[in-house]
Amino acid sequence: MKKRAFLVLLSFLLAIPLFGVNNTAKAATNFADVGSTHRATKEIYYLTEGNIAKGVSPSSFGPNKKVSRGEAATFIGRTLQLNGTKRQTSFKDVGAGMVASGYIQSAAEKRILSGYADGTYRPYKEVSRGEMAIMISRAFGFSFDNTTSGAAKALVSRGIAQGKGDGSFGEGELITRADFSIFLARAINPKFRTISNTVSFKDARWINIDSLNVRTGPNDSFQKIGAVKQDQQVLSSHKIGAWSYIKYGSLEGYVHSSYLRDKAEASNAGNIDPRIAKQVVVLDPGHGGHDSGATGFGIYEKNVVLDTGLKVNNLFKQTPFQVKMTRSTDKFVELRDRVSYAKSVGANTFISIHANAGGGTGSETYYYSAYKNPNVADSKLLATKIQNRLVAAWNLADRGVKNGNFHVIRENTMPAVLVELGFIDRKADNDKLRSDYWRNAAAKAIYLGTLDYYKAKGYQVDGLYNIAK
Ligand SMILES: [Zn+2]
Repeated sequence: MKKRAFLVLLSFLLAIPLFGVNNTAKAATNFADVGSTHRATKEIYYLTEGNIAKGVSPSSFGPNKKVSRGEAATFIGRTLQLNGTKRQTSFKDVGAGMVASGYIQSAAEKRILSGYADGTYRPYKEVSRGEMAIMISRAFGFSFDNTTSGAAKALVSRGIAQGKGDGSFGEGELITRADFSIFLARAINPKFRTISNTVSFKDARWINIDSLNVRTGPNDSFQKIGAVKQDQQVLSSHKIGAWSYIKYGSLEGYVHSSYLRDKAEASNAGNIDPRIAKQVVVLDPGHGGHDSGATGFGIYEKNVVLDTGLKVNNLFKQTPFQVKMTRSTDKFVELRDRVSYAKSVGANTFISIHANAGGGTGSETYYYSAYKNPNVADSKLLATKIQNRLVAAWNLADRGVKNGNFHVIRENTMPAVLVELGFIDRKADNDKLRSDYWRNAAAKAIYLGTLDYYKAKGYQVDGLYNIAK
């Protein structure tokens, strides 16, 4: 395929879904080239339902097209819910602007994917069956001897792949999107495998929420196939990302691991306050679209705070909290619309994320201390907890918790804070603002500070700290 045509195709394949993962009003996909008798029909629609695979156009899947290394990284990254935020990578041929850069870097950090000795990743190179076997074995933690034939054996022994008619695995043959879908779907869901009883349900777990949904796959987009009541015992076999594969009677499927505990008795440590599931946290990355916010050393505040906000969102997504964002893309949102959004979703806490400018240095967090937002004490408490965590994580100057008259914290009617991570026009602060590593650290600090706030308010959240380890 011509590189340019491929780029267009790739950008379509990796397009951000129009609907959030919690939106179940998703139109049913129907690919003209994957009819009901296609050999990969159920696997392709399964991966599509879980937003793991997408068509090459709204009406075609392209089952006979080959899979590029960039696409493979994206499929696997979505499966494991890795951080797919586009960013700098450790490969010289994968820039931050490439759509798959986030998943490539995340998968490389987890040693699921590796590059070539010359420092390249070769994202447009097509994947062979042997490479696929290695990627899937690493992604799902199947033990093997680090050879292609070992990885092939790991898949064949689990009923995920089959050998060729001549007894070989065909490891050098390029793999099609249909075959990749079959293998990936089987790796995720044991019910698709050609051999039964390939997983062992060895770990007893107990349910920590009124009613826990069981789904066909490891994210919220997959169909719900049942539910298990509080304190019931289930048996767990393996995890994919933050999700566990469990068995309860004849029911088998995926549940979110944060609602499982490993002791029959509800212990206090590790248990999660059921009221947490009703708490709505709104994250508000500042600026966006035509409003770039502050700038310094070639980077824009709007991009730094969006990426940091998405990272905080990823952390909360692994918890029972309901987390919402005033923007999750590079679009401009009016201040009043940020406030009305927070009110409309019933926000219990509101966290606005910004970067400073004007020649200073250090981190500071604001709350509003007059009558318009009645939650002065709680706003100050939340600001203090986040500020303490941020200063500990970033080790920039502690500019303190301050009373500030900003629209989004003044006009809101819930505890609301505004974090200024650092100064974008100061080199030392900018070095952190531009770094994926330090933005992760800031996101964890905001997440942990919010947990500290809830803990101080009497909620049991001890079981949620390890998510940000
Ligand atoms: Zn700002």
